[in-house]
Amino acid sequence: MIRYERDDADVAVVIGSGPGGSTLALQLVREGFRVVMLEAGPWIPNEDFVNDERIAFDQLTWKDPRRATGTWQLAKDFPGSPAWTGKVVGGTATFWTGLTPRFKSHEFEAHRSYGEVPGSSIADWPVTLEELSPYYERAERAMGTSHRHGRPPMPANNNYKVLANGAQRIGYEHFATGPYATNVEEYDGRPGTLRDGFCQQGDKSTAKWSPLVSEIPKAIATGLMELRTNAQAVQITLGSDGRADGVVYADENGALHRQRAAIVAVAGNAIETPRLLLLSATAGHEDGLANSSGQVGRNYMRHVTGVVYGEFENEVHMYRGEPMAGIVNDESRHDPRRGFSGGYYLEMIAQGLPSFTTFMTPGGWGPEFTSKVEAYTRTAGLWICGEDMPRETNRVTLDGSLLDRLGLPSPSVHYDDHPNDVAMLDHAYRQGEKLFRAVGATRVTKAPAMPSGHNMGTARMSEDAAAGVVNGFGQTHDVPNLFVSDGSVFTTGAAANPTLTIMAIVLRQADYIVRQARSGAL
Ligand SMILES: Cc1cc2nc3c(=O)[nH]c(=O)nc-3n(C[C@H](O)[C@H](O)[C@H](O)COP(=O)(O)OP(=O)(O)OC[C@H]3O[C@@H](n4cnc5c(N)ncnc54)[C@H](O)[C@@H]3O)c2cc1C
Repeated sequence: MIRYERDDADVAVVIGSGPGGSTLALQLVREGFRVVMLEAGPWIPNEDFVNDERIAFDQLTWKDPRRATGTWQLAKDFPGSPAWTGKVVGGTATFWTGLTPRFKSHEFEAHRSYGEVPGSSIADWPVTLEELSPYYERAERAMGTSHRHGRPPMPANNNYKVLANGAQRIGYEHFATGPYATNVEEYDGRPGTLRDGFCQQGDKSTAKWSPLVSEIPKAIATGLMELRTNAQAVQITLGSDGRADGVVYADENGALHRQRAAIVAVAGNAIETPRLLLLSATAGHEDGLANSSGQVGRNYMRHVTGVVYGEFENEVHMYRGEPMAGIVNDESRHDPRRGFSGGYYLEMIAQGLPSFTTFMTPGGWGPEFTSKVEAYTRTAGLWICGEDMPRETNRVTLDGSLLDRLGLPSPSVHYDDHPNDVAMLDHAYRQGEKLFRAVGATRVTKAPAMPSGHNMGTARMSEDAAAGVVNGFGQTHDVPNLFVSDGSVFTTGAAANPTLTIMAIVLRQADYIVRQARSGAL
């Protein structure tokens, strides 16, 4: 792997090696840019992943302190874990599940579609589905998504058969085992899945797409990217011309270094990205970098979520096969007759026994709880994933009373459910129960949200520099050579799982950066 000097001022520095950062880095090196990628976590090769949930969690997760505040249930159940994100090369996508629906046209125009929603900061995106469609296609090809571009669907497992059968019986018409970003058959030099059920522990086989098996090795192979692991960015520095000119980062021993830079892109996911911008406050940017709008950290979204478990007389073995290869689309439309704006998906979910017992009824105990645990092999699961309303007061701030190992303030995530979220979740729980009862469930359990895997909105996209942090290409309004390359830029959250859209947006951003740089505008 190439090594760049730290005082080399011509490199682009990409912070974070998840889907956002690695997608950008690969496009830039393919266009001849020289890239230094800083990743806070270690490089763990796929063969070192451990097929044991607890060990894998410790191996891959961002465990530095965080706080959850607000009236959301999560702040009560898991006050120290607002989100579940990765700290490892490949990011959270080393243990994501892989459902990849696209956003819908009305969701990019949420304000126009839903009208004013009091108590929300709903807005339209400065990007349309039409503009993003070619990039969606490229992202699907990069991931090798099932059901797309001639690739076969994922075979159904028992958990899916329960979901699909129940969906059909309650009148739903649009459900399938994907699109799902795991190889059904060999693709892009990686094998088809063994469907052994291990996925959220990291996939040893490499069948599941993640940047660790795709973008990162490809970028390094060009000879133009250096990946620095255990390198946590703690400050983006500015030159006297107001442009980003470097990134200060801590190595695994806590020693600080500075990499000079011509372009900086932040892709730390929607909690660490605003945290870094806020930590980078400096003269002239006292409230944080790129924060003249005051929007950095605000409008945090994490989707309306919850789990419904159906218990049956016969065995289901939900944990066999791909854990999330199933999606029901019928409720994803905008239909205010249901009592809320926006829509939601019902997605298949399977959890290992440790997660099942932790999240089914947080703090659960006693005979009813244990009888549910005993019914584990006879249980099917579905996960609700719906559009939550952005609110300015739902936000990531720095908590100076909670310091990390480097002595830096930790992120505090404040979230209050919007009444629209509450109405949507209530509807989804009822539909989930109806679905499982329709195929003979003897008991249904409604489980609350887990620490958020989908984190969005904290560096909002808007063409209006007073209303957002970045423009339609993820370029910060305040610092022309500083970009945000992850779900922080989402103006609204839509109902779909976010990663395909993160990649599509970043592919479009990469084209923009290349054009701007070549024309001398950057
Ligand atoms: C269990 C689970 C299942 C999921 N399933 C799905 C799914 O089915 N479909 C879907 O669309 N999405 C899913 N997601 C969400 C998906 O994983 C994320 O949307 C995606 O990984 C976000 O990509 P990212 O690049 O923005 O951030 P990440 O993947 O989180 O990567 C960010 C990287 O940046 C690094 N970093 C952060 N701060 C710094 C810093 N200051 N310096 C250096 N490095 C830093 C982190 O260590 C991390 O490696 C799931 C998430 C979880 C937890």
